[in-house]
Amino acid sequence: MKLPEKVNLLGITYKIEEVEVVNKNTPCDGEINYQSLEIRIDKGLADEKKAQVLMHEILHGLFESLGLAELRDDEKAVQSLATALYHLFSTQTIFSS
Ligand SMILES: [Zn+2]
Repeated sequence: MKLPEKVNLLGITYKIEEVEVVNKNTPCDGEINYQSLEIRIDKGLADEKKAQVLMHEILHGLFESLGLAELRDDEKAVQSLATALYHLFSTQTIFSS
């Protein structure tokens, strides 16, 4: 599975990059930078994990754009929503035209 090159979060376009090392100081699967508008994902992850990590970073970005800083920084809330939404959207087509 190939991740998209970019994602538009409420009018803000983030670039998505798959990298060898996400963060030299803190080991992690992915991260989002609200200033440089980049989402970095560990390229060594399995495809499904990659997609779920992307959903996690997308939720951080959405909460940032919505001005919901407390939710944005709540890793448990972000991860639980990411797990639920990734499952929802990866297992079925809910909206189709
Ligand atoms: Zn997070």
